[in-house]
Amino acid sequence: MTGFGSVPDRLARNTYALDDGQSHIEVHQEVARATGTGKLLVRICPAHVYTEEADGTITAAYAACLECGTCLAVAAPGSLMWHYPRGGFGVAYREG
Ligand code: SF4
Repeated sequence: MTGFGSVPDRLARNTYALDDGQSHIEVHQEVARATGTGKLLVRICPAHVYTEEADGTITAAYAACLECGTCLAVAAPGSLMWHYPRGGFGVAYREG
């Protein structure tokens, strides 16, 4: 799209207010592993929040979350705890 810049350029305009030490994402490792949700999260998150470590643990870099809700929509029951960050924290989208 001419005039609007690339998607990475546009996303770079967003600002993030970190709620230090208060992740809004928690992966329940055993359920995520047993159901395949962990690998699905790694593939599906548009912000690459999830990473599979060498031992199979799924980590979540919550500070990068775009709050799109995709992970919550696809996660098997009991595999993921996700909620919006507390008021005033999280992503703030910027246009233009
Ligand atoms: S809400 Fe969206 S950006 Fe945030 S962790 Fe889930 S899939 Fe990734």
